[in-house]
Amino acid sequence: MDVAATVDQQSQQDVPFYEPVGNECELFEHAFRQHLPFLLKGPTGCGKTRFVSHMAARLGRPLYTVSCHDDLTAADLTGRYLLQGGETRWVDGPLTRAVREGGICYLDEVVEARKDVTVVLHPLTDDRRLLPLERTGELLEAPDDFMLVVSYNPGYQHILKSLKPSTRQRFVAMSFDFPPPAVERDIVAAESGLPAQQCAALINLAARLRAMKGQDLEEGVSTRLLIYCATLMVNGVSATQAAQATLVEPLSDDADVQEGLMEAIRATF
Ligand code: ADP
Repeated sequence: MDVAATVDQQSQQDVPFYEPVGNECELFEHAFRQHLPFLLKGPTGCGKTRFVSHMAARLGRPLYTVSCHDDLTAADLTGRYLLQGGETRWVDGPLTRAVREGGICYLDEVVEARKDVTVVLHPLTDDRRLLPLERTGELLEAPDDFMLVVSYNPGYQHILKSLKPSTRQRFVAMSFDFPPPAVERDIVAAESGLPAQQCAALINLAARLRAMKGQDLEEGVSTRLLIYCATLMVNGVSATQAAQATLVEPLSDDADVQEGLMEAIRATF
């Protein structure tokens, strides 16, 4: 499989906007300086990826982000021999590149990946910090600037797809959640350009919609979707239509659930 499409390489110049919620930036920086791997837990769209991009840029390290999926194997991360112009050449995967360059490798939704991925991660996440490349016969020692960051969404987990304790216990871990209302309002305003007052109404609505999670909804509306909604509103879409397209349709296919969400929306706008 070609992972190029799923790997997102970030240049070091721009520091993406990230509004801290607590002391997560300091904790991450400590982990980086002490060469400890980091685990982020939290629902989708709550800012985990943005946080890692922000920290990588702040620390001046290249970032390799890999969105894990159920076909992703260890070789997709480490590399493989490829036929190029009639020659067989070894091509490093994103994890190997991060180790060689002293960068940050972020494995998003790591529980989705195949089991053999954990075998590669274990020697990298203890004090040996080694990446064995069986195919090339190399044994890479991670430089001080290398950091492994993984994330998963505990809400999605089921018994077959959870991180084993032996893997989890190798990481400094932190729970992420949707930011508190005032912070989330500022984030939505900054990302979309919607005036703060209208953003505040949207955040109130989000609280009501999130309260419906569990009854019929698997996931609460994410910060990402609130930004989509605000962006449509800024560009002239009516609040009700924008909310239906971003806060109702992506969340549920069930007509009754959709109607429940729409009621909350009509009561807001
Ligand atoms: P996750 O990786 O948790 O699924 P993302 O990091 O992609 O979520 O967050 C979705 C969007 O929400 C980001 O693109 C960003 O616009 C916004 N966002 C969420 N939290 C923050 C934050 N604390 N500061 C700035 N932007 C944020």
